[in-house]
Amino acid sequence: MAERKLFKSSKFQEVNAAIKKDGAAIFVDKEGHENLIIDNPYAIRYIHSYAEDSPFFLGLAQGKLLGTKCGPCNYVFATPRGNCQFCGEPTTWVDLPLRGRVHTWTTCHFGGEAFLKETPYNLAMIEFDGANSVLLARLKDCKEEEIYVGMPVEARFNPKPQYSITDVWFVPADTDSPKARRK
Ligand SMILES: [Zn+2]
Repeated sequence: MAERKLFKSSKFQEVNAAIKKDGAAIFVDKEGHENLIIDNPYAIRYIHSYAEDSPFFLGLAQGKLLGTKCGPCNYVFATPRGNCQFCGEPTTWVDLPLRGRVHTWTTCHFGGEAFLKETPYNLAMIEFDGANSVLLARLKDCKEEEIYVGMPVEARFNPKPQYSITDVWFVPADTDSPKARRK
């Protein structure tokens, strides 16, 4: 029996390309271990209610960022909460600015299904004037070494909304390049 030749790589993008082509690949990790990676598609249909979080996702589809505010605590959640985490009172919806700053960030060299095509990608916590908590989102159109704490960024929205948190991402605010304005 002829031995099947499998593509060996230590880079996720190359492994992904090999899996697409051959259905299998070998990922060589830093210690030199050879890990067999196979393509095993699965699908589920998941019907999910956003319930009280719905305005946030409907807002993304309209190019708006919505947070929530607790009246008694005067606390604004950039990641919206239906009830205040401090006092438990119901919150009200508020508009967040479309510009913010990088609070902190990380570069992901692997990711969940929704992000595999973009790997490696940058994830950032975004802080906003007038908000007391941050929003976790992807940071695009910049390289890892260009990102810094306090970097001004602005929101971009998926023109074909999927009603998912991936409908919003951020790009550097100070660039007028066509690349940054593409979406
Ligand atoms: Zn409160």
